[in-house]
Amino acid sequence: MSHPLKQHLIDPEICIRCHTCENTCPIQAIEHNDDNVVVDASKCNFCMDCIPVCPTGSIDEWRVVEAPYSLEEQYEWDELPEQGDVTLDDAPSDEQSNDEGDADPVAALLAEAHKGAGGKARAPASAAKPTINLYNLSNAVEAVVQGNYRLTAEGADTDVRHIILDFQGKPFPVLEGQSLGIIAPGTNEKGRPHLPRLYSASSPRDGERPGYHNVSLTVKRDEGGLCSNFLCDLKKGDKVDVTGPFGATFLMPSDPAARLLMICTGTGSAPMRAFTMARERTVGAREGGMVMFFGARTPDSLPYFGPLKKMPEKLLHKHLVFSREPDQPKEYVQDRMRAEEELVAEMLQDPNTYIYICGLKAMEQGVEEALNNITESTGESWQALRDTMREDGRYHVETY
Ligand SMILES: Cc1cc2nc3c(=O)[nH]c(=O)nc-3n(C[C@H](O)[C@H](O)[C@H](O)COP(=O)(O)OP(=O)(O)OC[C@H]3O[C@@H](n4cnc5c(N)ncnc54)[C@H](O)[C@@H]3O)c2cc1C
Repeated sequence: MSHPLKQHLIDPEICIRCHTCENTCPIQAIEHNDDNVVVDASKCNFCMDCIPVCPTGSIDEWRVVEAPYSLEEQYEWDELPEQGDVTLDDAPSDEQSNDEGDADPVAALLAEAHKGAGGKARAPASAAKPTINLYNLSNAVEAVVQGNYRLTAEGADTDVRHIILDFQGKPFPVLEGQSLGIIAPGTNEKGRPHLPRLYSASSPRDGERPGYHNVSLTVKRDEGGLCSNFLCDLKKGDKVDVTGPFGATFLMPSDPAARLLMICTGTGSAPMRAFTMARERTVGAREGGMVMFFGARTPDSLPYFGPLKKMPEKLLHKHLVFSREPDQPKEYVQDRMRAEEELVAEMLQDPNTYIYICGLKAMEQGVEEALNNITESTGESWQALRDTMREDGRYHVETY
């Protein structure tokens, strides 16, 4: 007699070992060694908290099994096993059966897992359907560098680059808000290829110039960092191994009337640039419906400062905020949001507003507190509004 079980697994070929899932799991069902990140089947209760936080989607893997794969087996994997044949001489156990009486218990269990996975973070309803995981570590695509330009002033405290990649006619269908994986050359101490690092596309889906289908990245040189230094040092004509695209929820609505509230710091501006250029190409000189709060230490260290200043306010209403301007009080994005409470509150009350927060992890708490204060002032609960917005695909956070 067999009771098929659904088992939650992580795809080792796609996972970038950022451990966000492990840090999010409320019951410590996820663990890792030097090789893999794995899920303990005896602990996992399918709460799905880990699903929306995974930047690659490698966490969203499910198998129906007669006996769960052990942690030891999962640690050995270089790739996920295929869904095997399961002897189904009995119905699924009560707690795992679906109430629709589906004739195929394997399909029913897998469908049930995916239904749960969609419950927390959603893409905007009108977003284009993203392609994900077209290329992975063992099947990367080669891109050629078309240009590498410094975005921050020489002498600024941060070196951020605008790097343009060309896929030489090979397909790389990336939407605004998605990321690419970059594999730095060489091997790690175990002689294995380095794991990809993720970088947001900062160009719109049809390319830096319409129809060119090249992709730009906005990369900050991280002192001592492997991949960011590799990228920032690239020259025109150099070749780069790329995986992805990744990300199925941090996407922009296709509806040109949707309003975007974009809050970012540093390289978190990358997806916002892609959104803005895409919207500009769609609406032309008309009202853009986009508001941006963008924080940096100084104008010299704010990526795209020059082009942003030139962008018409009608298309993109900008608040560039600086925390280290000489003779000025420190100001962070959350301070400016509070100062612009009326504007933010009005946007929050509009069911056609979409929020995007992107940048360093440290910004998240301050922004959340500001949104909380602003909603409180209008007698609403931020938590309730955020849950509704998230379920509607209207609240998106990507911090790293
Ligand atoms: C969804 C997502 C999107 C992202 N988008 C962007 C983006 O658009 N632009 C961008 O610039 N970044 C982005 N990132 C971050 C990016 O993926 C990398 O994490 C970042 O560039 C650092 O990678 P690295 O290989 O240079 O550093 P790593 O080599 O991974 O090192 C990370 C840090 O650890 C330190 N370190 C490394 N080894 C040691 C050691 N032995 N001892 C002490 N310290 C050590 C390094 O100095 C560095 O500060 C994104 C991340 C995610 C998850």
